[in-house]
Amino acid sequence: MMEVRALAKAFSGVKAIDEFSLQVHADEYLTLLGPSGSGKSTLLRLLAGLEKPDSGSIWLNGVDITTQPTHMRNLGFVQQKYALFPHLNVIDNVAFGLRHRELDPVTDPARVEKRVADILELVGLTDLGGRMVGQLSGGQKQRVSLARTLVTEPKVCLLDEPLGALDANLRERMTVELQKIRRALGVTFMHVTGNEAEAIAMGDRMIVLDRGRLLQVDPPDTIFTVPATIDVARYINAYN
Ligand code: ADP
Ligand code: MG
Repeated sequence: MMEVRALAKAFSGVKAIDEFSLQVHADEYLTLLGPSGSGKSTLLRLLAGLEKPDSGSIWLNGVDITTQPTHMRNLGFVQQKYALFPHLNVIDNVAFGLRHRELDPVTDPARVEKRVADILELVGLTDLGGRMVGQLSGGQKQRVSLARTLVTEPKVCLLDEPLGALDANLRERMTVELQKIRRALGVTFMHVTGNEAEAIAMGDRMIVLDRGRLLQVDPPDTIFTVPATIDVARYINAYN
């Protein structure tokens, strides 16, 4: 459904993403595990079109999107440092995700209202629609940011360490919520994390990334029982 072919990106000669290839299946929940600096955010930024690859290509449903601008890609991206508008309420922040889409808040307010209400219900924010975002907790802001992306109905949703800033309790709740959303919407997720337990618990398949290279992509069980290389085995053990 999405295919990445030999994607590469270097910053001042240092390879951040190195000949990365991957086939993403429709409706799967992929987790991507790698240490800090291994290229996780760079990969998502390349997929989203916020960074230009040095070589390689990205395909979505048979179309080469490598040079397509971000807003044409039908990919949602929840960045590590998501920028919400603190002085706007939850509804307006989520509706902002629809600007410049076929459903524009300015030109089609009734349909936008319905779509935003549906998404807020899905992420459990119905009661907070009128609240200024600046007054929300970290976990609530995280859900607003997710809602703002999901409201655009992306084919693939890219999440950069979506649970990283949350405490253990909230992380658990968001985990459950993400699974619920995934079942409700049938979106393909690529969820980047530095947390091994999270990658294992949530991934249908799990990618192990090291220094920009894909070491293995398999169901989490397989990665543990049949690590593809010595490097993967070392890497997984290093976490335990
Ligand atoms: P991760 O998200 O896994 O922590 P990043 O993708 O942020 O890793 O970074 C991968 C490597 O690329 C790091 O060595 C980082 O310093 C470098 N890098 C990322 N973005 C830039 C940039 N805009 N300019 C220069 N170097 C960058
Ligand atoms: Mg990162």
